[in-house]
Amino acid sequence: MKKLAFDTKLVHADRKINKPQFGAVHESSNNSVLFEFEDVQDLVDVFQGKKLGHVYSRSSSSSAVSLQNILNELEGGVGAIVFATGMAAISATFLSLLKAGDHIIVSQYLFGNTRSFLATIEGFGISVSYVDVTELSQVQQAHNENTKMVFCETIANPVTQVADLKGIGEWCEANNIIFALDNTMTPSVLLDSKAIKASLLLTSLTKYIGGHGNVLGGVLVDTGLFDWSKYDNIDEIYQVENQQHWGLTQIKKRGLRDMGATLAPQSAHLVSMGLETLTMRLRKTCANAQALAKYLVTHRGVRAVHYPGLDKHPQHERAKSLFKRGYGGILSVELNDSINPHEFLNSLSLVISATHLGDTRTLALPIASTVFYENGPEERRKMGIADSLIRISVGIEDIEDILSDFDSAFAALL
Ligand code: PLP
Repeated sequence: MKKLAFDTKLVHADRKINKPQFGAVHESSNNSVLFEFEDVQDLVDVFQGKKLGHVYSRSSSSSAVSLQNILNELEGGVGAIVFATGMAAISATFLSLLKAGDHIIVSQYLFGNTRSFLATIEGFGISVSYVDVTELSQVQQAHNENTKMVFCETIANPVTQVADLKGIGEWCEANNIIFALDNTMTPSVLLDSKAIKASLLLTSLTKYIGGHGNVLGGVLVDTGLFDWSKYDNIDEIYQVENQQHWGLTQIKKRGLRDMGATLAPQSAHLVSMGLETLTMRLRKTCANAQALAKYLVTHRGVRAVHYPGLDKHPQHERAKSLFKRGYGGILSVELNDSINPHEFLNSLSLVISATHLGDTRTLALPIASTVFYENGPEERRKMGIADSLIRISVGIEDIEDILSDFDSAFAALL
C-alpha cells in the first residue's frame, strides 16, 4: 500500500489491504466454519502451511485475517493474530511461548485479571518476579539466566503508573529478552511501540479499538524486532522459512488452534468498524480526561488524582516524551474520607457505574472491591490501590456535561 498517514489508513486500510470481493468497501463477515477445496492437494498444502488459505475457522477465517492485516499495518509489525478477548491474547501468548523452568519479569502494576492469570502459570512451574517497572534498575536486578520475557502495561490500570518503556525496551533488546507490552491504554494513535523496542504488543480490542462496548476481542502484534532464532522455546516444527514469523507461527498453532479462543467473524467486523474512528475518539477522550483531572485535582472533596497528564504525576515527564496525542482516558481518584465512594458513584447521573474502560461513555467503578478484590489488601497496597480508589474511564461526551455531573455529586455529599 502507498504510504498513507495513520488516520487515513484507519478508514482506507480495509479496502486497500484486504481488497474485498465485488468492490466492497469493508471485508464482509464470513461465517463459514469449513472451506471446500477442488483439489485435495490444495487442502493438504494449506494444512501444512505451504499455501495460504483457510481450512477451519478456529485457526483462521477471512474476517479475522482482514482485521489482523489492518491492525498489523497500523502498528508496522510483521504479523498479527486476533483472539476472542484481550485476556485470550495474553494467556495464549504466554502459554505458547513459555515452559516450566522459565522465568519472567512482570510489572507489579497490572490489570487484576492479568495478575490472577500469572498466579495460575506460576502453578505450572514458570517463575515470576513482580517489580516496579517505573524503575529500569528493578527489572535489571530481577534478571537471571532463565529470564525469557519482560511484561508490563504502558499506562497501568488503574493507578496510571508509566513504565520506563524506552529503558526496558533497549535493555530487553540488548539481552535478547522478549519485551511483551500490553498497550490497551495507548493504542498506536498514542504510542509508537516500535520506537520503544517492544517485541510483542498485546491489546484488548474490547477497549479503545472496538470502542463502543458492543464487542470483545484481543490481538497480538509481532513488531518484528525480536530475533526468534535466538529463542530456545520455538519448536523445531515451527522453525521454518522466515525466522521473523517463528513466534507468530507457534502462537497461532498452540495458542489459537490448540487452545481455541478464536475471534468470531462477526466480532472481527464490529471491531473493524469501531477502529475507523479511533483517532477522533481518543483525541476527545484524552482532552476530556485532562480537563476532568484538572478539575478534580483542586477539588476540596478529593485527596488524590492519578493521571499522567498532570504535572505532579510522578512519571509526567516520561509520559510527555512517550505519548503523542495525549495521556489516555483513564484516571483514578481518591476522595476525601468524608465522602463514601459508593454514595458518590450513586450520586452521578450521567456517568455510568460499570466495569469496563475505553468506551465512548464515561464510566466509573470502585476498584478495590471489584476488579482487584481477589488480589487482597497486600497486593493492592503494592499496586498503589487505596480502598477508596475510584477508576474513571473518560468518554467522548461534551466536557461541560461530565464536569457538571461531578459537580452535582459533590454538591449532594459535601
Ligand atoms: N489488559 C488491560 C490493561 C485491561 O484493562 C483489560 C481489561 O480491562 C484487558 C487486558 C483484558 O481485556 P478483555 O476484557 O478484552 O479480555
